[in-house]
Amino acid sequence: MTERKQFRAIKGTRDILPPDSALWNWFEQTARDTFERYGYHDIRTPVFEPTELFARSIGADTDVVNKEMFTFGSGYDSDSMEESAPGLTYSLRPEATASVVRAYIEHGMNTLPGDVKLYYMGPMFRRERPQKGRYRQFYQIGAEVLGQSDAPAIDAELIEMLLVFFWRAGLDRTTLYVNSIGDKNCRPQYVELLREKLLKVKDSLGADSQRRIETNPLRVLDSKLPEEQAIIEKLPRISDHLCAECREHFTKLKEELKLRGVAYEENWRLVRGLDYYTRTTFEVTAAGLGSQNAVCGGGRYDGLVELLGGPPTKGIGFAIGSDRAILSIQESKNLPHLPGLAVFVAWMGAKCYPAAVAIARKLRDSGVSVELPPEEMKFKKSLGLADKLGARYALIIGEDEVASETYSLKRLSDGDQKKLNENDLLEYLESERRGTGA
Ligand code: AMP
Repeated sequence: MTERKQFRAIKGTRDILPPDSALWNWFEQTARDTFERYGYHDIRTPVFEPTELFARSIGADTDVVNKEMFTFGSGYDSDSMEESAPGLTYSLRPEATASVVRAYIEHGMNTLPGDVKLYYMGPMFRRERPQKGRYRQFYQIGAEVLGQSDAPAIDAELIEMLLVFFWRAGLDRTTLYVNSIGDKNCRPQYVELLREKLLKVKDSLGADSQRRIETNPLRVLDSKLPEEQAIIEKLPRISDHLCAECREHFTKLKEELKLRGVAYEENWRLVRGLDYYTRTTFEVTAAGLGSQNAVCGGGRYDGLVELLGGPPTKGIGFAIGSDRAILSIQESKNLPHLPGLAVFVAWMGAKCYPAAVAIARKLRDSGVSVELPPEEMKFKKSLGLADKLGARYALIIGEDEVASETYSLKRLSDGDQKKLNENDLLEYLESERRGTGA
């Protein structure tokens, strides 16, 4: 006897079902629409890449690469593209900047005119401990600017675009934090100084921070452990150790943000988890999310293209966590009005069926959403189902209507009913559709 097994989505993954999926589509469409107004173009890259790409770009010592990647495949040989080199593997992407930069280099996009402005959206994968707002398959929407300039205006415009998107998506109650983490001229000295100071207080730190003194001292500043907070507050701040160029870049960035009416808070502890960032870093938090309240992280990564074998190129980008952003919108109840089903065709009698099929097609062709029951239903049942499906109208087609070549349109919210000929019906529903934004 075969066992009847019930399959379930793997822990840390989930299904996004209607009507939530409509909110997701709208959120993503609002992003596309906003980003395209700022001259960004869609890029689609594979969801898996050689593990080495992530190790090299994100940093082999980061948690993301060290502990959180889904890695598979027995071998990958980049020359022959055959799976022949033992020990070389693929990983599901934990983020997309590495892939975008790989594609930028691979396709010689540095020869394109002006700055290359790209956006992407899709699933990312990290083997994290699942909790509210933290999944193993989650979704990001990101944008990147790659080119020859690192003008602070580029950073500021990118941040402005991000906040305009959040505003259009109804994601209010957000806070933008900005910081500069220096560059290769000034950061190494600061990191050394930090390491020195941290070694002196090592015994008062937790295990993670103790380990990070060696691997990545900047990450200690990220710590949320209550007992470490007082110690961290006394550590030297990078803002006092930036070189003149980085200081000027940061000052100009803040002026540019003011010019654009973008409110921000400075946060000297904002270092970001990934190794490749330089100068500008930023993060946006949103209300209603508990401890996982970061909805976007971003920053400048001027050395990354070179690190991955490309020509000297400046870069900056961000990644929005869609799951959290949408959760915050849902919690705030600031939901968009998404028009659902417009018309339910209540047809009665086999003789009326051809007329029902014909009008359903005409309405759909003109952009109206229509539900046409595949089998005849009793009138009352038909209206009941129309109501349950959330239709705004029932279009009644019985023998009288067919004989008089008219339709009875019943508004389900208040029962108001009118008789219309085909032209008037199409016109009425089309204008109604425009009115509801459908
Ligand atoms: P990061 O690249 O880690 O800075 O991530 C950018 C954004 O992606 C974060 O601010 C989160 O909103 C989101 N994010 C990162 N990891 C997860 C996860 N495991 N589950 C849900 N969202 C995530």
